[in-house]
Amino acid sequence: MSNKYSQSKICNKCGHEDSRENSKCVAAFESTRMWESPCPICQSIEIENAGWELPDLDEEIMLLWCDDESLYLSDQDEDILMAEEMNIDLLFNFLDNDNIKPSKRAVILSALCVLVFDNTSDEEEDLDINPEIAIKVIHGLKGRISIFASMDTDYIMDYIKEVVYPQLGLSLRSM
Ligand SMILES: [Zn+2]
Repeated sequence: MSNKYSQSKICNKCGHEDSRENSKCVAAFESTRMWESPCPICQSIEIENAGWELPDLDEEIMLLWCDDESLYLSDQDEDILMAEEMNIDLLFNFLDNDNIKPSKRAVILSALCVLVFDNTSDEEEDLDINPEIAIKVIHGLKGRISIFASMDTDYIMDYIKEVVYPQLGLSLRSM
């Protein structure tokens, strides 16, 4: 895995494509990978198309993110971005850390619920889902069920709660 992450943008006015390489911790966050310099050819700041490589979530990125309220992995749906099978153990480790800000733990809890949601199906053959992932995360969440009462669960979207809470034995009235 390379430790450089490429980013590109195409000028809306002259079509010039600019690219740069970011370090892992710059590439990981919305605000640090922000790239607002004008086009070097025509000085326009309008961008037609932009792309960037995202690093996999790891402990270093999580520690930076947990320590800084102004750091976002994404300006929306951070929980959905985090909800990957390879992140399950990392997410539970940080969820269990009482030193981490409640606002960040709330996002982590939501990401775990998204993982259950994404891997729950009411259809017989849904190739995109892996029930074993849902089972693993449900098992982990059931072992920590009291956190649903002690933590702020407002961050978890209602449509996620409707699918996940019954599987955890939680009442939807506690939503
Ligand atoms: Zn330009």
